[in-house]
Order: sequence, then C-alpha cells, then structure tokens
Amino acid sequence: MKFADLHLHTHFSDGTFSPEELTGHAQRLGFAALALTDHDSVEGCARMAAACSAAGIEFIIGTELTAEYNDTELHILGYFLDAQNPRLLVELARFQSVRQDRIREMVARLNGLNIPLEAETVFALANCESPGRPHVARAMVKAGLVKSLDEAFERYLKKNRPAWVPKAKMSALEGIGLIHQAGGLAVMAHPGLNRTDEIIPALVDAGLDGIECFHTKHSAAQSGRYLEMAGKFNLLVTGGSDCHGFSKGKPLIGNVKLPYEHVERLKAKVESRKPAANPPSAIRNPQ
Ligand code: AMP
Ligand code: FE
Ligand code: FE
Ligand code: ZN
Repeated sequence: MKFADLHLHTHFSDGTFSPEELTGHAQRLGFAALALTDHDSVEGCARMAAACSAAGIEFIIGTELTAEYNDTELHILGYFLDAQNPRLLVELARFQSVRQDRIREMVARLNGLNIPLEAETVFALANCESPGRPHVARAMVKAGLVKSLDEAFERYLKKNRPAWVPKAKMSALEGIGLIHQAGGLAVMAHPGLNRTDEIIPALVDAGLDGIECFHTKHSAAQSGRYLEMAGKFNLLVTGGSDCHGFSKGKPLIGNVKLPYEHVERLKAKVESRKPAANPPSAIRNPQ
C-alpha cells in the first residue's frame, strides 16, 4: 500500500534535517509522497522537490501558516501552492520579517538580563528566512549561556518568561484566502493540539478544504473524532508526522503513514479548482 507524510519541517524553519536528509529517511521508510510544510516559508521546497524527484518520491509544495482566530493560535497547512505566487511571497516575507524583528526583541531582552548574545549570531545559526525561538535557544547553548535547549526555554523563552515576546500572527481567514489565491488547499493542522474545535465551523465557512486527522500527537480517539468531523463538514483528510528532525527529541518521520488515497482526493480537488484551459465554444462564440 502506498502512503504519504504531509507534515514535515527542515532547517528552513525549526527542523534540523536538510531536505536531502529528510527525503533519504522517507525513502528508507518507503514513502510514496511527501509534503514539506516549514513554518511561514516555502524556502526549502525547491531543494526538497529535487531530492524527492531523484528518490522517485512524489513531492507536494506546502507551508504551515501561523494564524489566529479570536486570539486562539492555530496552524493552517497550505498544499499544492504556486511557490512563485506574488501575493504569497509578499505575505510570507512580511511574516518572516516579523519573526526577525521578534528575535531582535528577544535578544534585547536577554541583553537586559546581562546575557550577552547578538541577533546576528542567531540569524547566522538559523540561516533561513523563517527563524524562531528554537534558533535563539540553540545560539544560547552554542555560546555556553545555558546548558540545554530546555533550560533556554524554561528560564527565558517560554511564554511569560523574561525574554518571551508574543508573535504577530495572520488572521486564520486571511490565511485561508492567501492559500486559495495561490492555487492551494487550506488544511487545519493538528486540531487536537490547539483546542480549536469550536472554531472549525467558521473556518469551513471561510473555505477550509481539509483537516489533519492523523498527527503524531493525536490519540486514536482524537483521530476518530476528527475523521467524524471531516465527514460532517465534507473536509478532506490529511495526516503527517510533524517531524522536526532532532529539534524535539528523536525524528518523528514514520509515525504517520497516510494512505495514498487521501493524496489522490487532495489532487482531485486542486484539479477541480483550476480554470478550464479551453472555455466551451458556446461561451467563446455567443450567438
Ligand atoms: P516560535 O514559532 O518562534 O514561537 O517557536 C516555536 C517552536 O519552539 C516550536 O517548534 C516548538 O516546538 C519550540 N519549542 C517550544 N518550547 C520548547 C521547549 N521547551 N524545548 C524545545 N523547543 C521548544
Ligand atoms: Fe515547528
Ligand atoms: Fe504546527
Ligand atoms: Zn508543524
């Protein structure tokens, strides 16, 4: 049976694997299709596409947008995007610049606590357009300012700790619109992690296409619950490991093996949205 992982991160956001390493792991595990969903970025997709092509694996361009609805954070996955779409690139660049400003602010707060770290050190280590707190934590470990990533988060970077800075997020409805205008499908990521069930009907009204029923952190009961919701709201079903390499303990790729039939359904929906190449002659030549 063919299977897919539609939720993966590389070092182009907060993962540790390169696109090539990630593809290598997927190939050994027998995956037929993969989507790269780095946070607020499509930067790694070109390399991932090339690696997958060489490995005989189908590749789906993706991203994971950091969004909010009524002050609740949620993540929206975008699939089959046009990675050259101008509005998508402008909006991603805007949120990437917000992330970079946030890192400068976190570093300033650390400096205020007499912790000597420079933003440029974090950016050099992150070496990607979409840096985040894990890069600050890694830079602190590397500079010997803390002993572990956990210590960096627990003492300084966690919510309400002294160097924590809230992150500006895209509205969920705008996120869905952004993905659609770039030709993609919008899918609610890991609903079991965000306590967002009551938000789902509003997102469906805004055009949500799918829901991530299968995720490393979903229990069997949660997957069942979201499969039921997918049926109720006529949503496509997706799933993925949310592998971040070694960022969060051990690599998670292989935890979720989404049956390939779900990929086929996603593709059918994308195709059905595309404007017909040749409009019917009756419309071209009205009487
Ligand atoms: P950000 O998007 O910049 O707020 O960073 C969020 C990332 O930080 C997520 O990928 C989390 O997994 C990671 N993170 C949050 N808490 C911790 C922690 N205690 N240890 C390691 N990583 C963490
Ligand atoms: Fe992440
Ligand atoms: Fe997420
Ligand atoms: Zn993710």
